[in-house]
Amino acid sequence: MKKEQLLNIAQELGSPVYVYDAHKIESQYKRLTSAFTNVKNLKINYAAKALSNISVLKFLKNLGSGLDTVSIQEVQLGLVAGFKAQNIIFTPNGVSLEEIEEVAKLGVQINIDNLSILEQFGSKHPDIPVCIRINPHVMAGGNTNISVGHIDSKFGISIHQIPHILRIVENTKMHINGIHMHTGSDILDIDVFLYASEILFETAKNFKNLEFIDFGSGFKVPYKKGDIETNIEELGKKLTSRFNEFCKSYGKELTLAFEPGKFLVSEAGFFLVKVNVVKQTTSTVFAQVDSGFNHLIRPMLYGSQHEIMNISNPDGRERFYSVVGYICETDTFANNRRINEINEGDILAFKNAGAYCFTMASNYNSRFRPAEVLWYNNKAHLIRKHETFDDLLANQVTVDLSKKKSVVKK
Ligand SMILES: *Cc1c(COP(=O)(O)O)cnc(C)c1O
Repeated sequence: MKKEQLLNIAQELGSPVYVYDAHKIESQYKRLTSAFTNVKNLKINYAAKALSNISVLKFLKNLGSGLDTVSIQEVQLGLVAGFKAQNIIFTPNGVSLEEIEEVAKLGVQINIDNLSILEQFGSKHPDIPVCIRINPHVMAGGNTNISVGHIDSKFGISIHQIPHILRIVENTKMHINGIHMHTGSDILDIDVFLYASEILFETAKNFKNLEFIDFGSGFKVPYKKGDIETNIEELGKKLTSRFNEFCKSYGKELTLAFEPGKFLVSEAGFFLVKVNVVKQTTSTVFAQVDSGFNHLIRPMLYGSQHEIMNISNPDGRERFYSVVGYICETDTFANNRRINEINEGDILAFKNAGAYCFTMASNYNSRFRPAEVLWYNNKAHLIRKHETFDDLLANQVTVDLSKKKSVVKK
């Protein structure tokens, strides 16, 4: 998207506002499917938790995507968006048996990631096919908070527990139709990914009735020029060849599944804010914007470095700024960042704001959550109104506190 287009949206709809470029989502989707064009049965299940606006879900469904979900509410959003139940996979962690049963009743593919639930679910519903989430104990990823395949991780069933899995399957006569791993976000090294894949292939040999192998996600996208990103094309070539070899030895054309979130939507998103105050201190210049970690928590939570552009003054002289929010707590978006000269009232655009930004937004400081816009066919479509005061009151229950305390006699 062009800077003027973003600026127009902020001027028309006000700030703060999220903007998603549908064309970028589409080109990323096609990039991934082209990289695996030599896999006969490929299934991309978009990870809804990255960005779960119904219009975005619908757009991905129309591209041919399935949906990866982690809560029954995401499943329900997917159904509202028009996904067929059989194109949804449920990959929760630590949710109740009841929730899993409820989702299974809807016809959604279940993915189980612990032995306790596997045993209970298999005993009660041996006829419902289940996928198993394996933890291959491979360390992938830059940030320990989002590395989920390592030995101390709470995710998946350890590969060292395969004998136990097999015993449960044998005893319950349950049907395992898929094997899954998700080793965590930010995979830098294709060889690490391929190494984990080999462990998955090895595991898959234990199950005779598989329909698919799900390799999860964690593809890294660039945040700024020169950033390393996952080389999808190279991964496509190498994994395709290994996958097709495996299918031959397994004796069946399996489906290769992925469930990317960030890869599909991160770069499509822009978060637009207005500068309220430019504040000089003895050590720096703060640009204080009309938002905070209530709307975009990733810099504070993960140390994510979102690039920031001054779209009101794109040709201005570059200067150094600390960009901070209006939350009454340390609330830093960026430190010591080189940005075109900022004046009060300017609109700044945060890049990579498609994944895990709006979905992590809150009403902290009793602020409204922002509006969302989908840029599609060269037009801005409002896909979520910004909240109003009524939303803040919506579920609050007013009790009558005016009466005097009744005296309790002993
Ligand atoms: C979050 C999640 C994903 C998506 O991860 P990205 O890094 O956004 O691609 C995929 N699979 C599972 C099971 C997840 O929990």
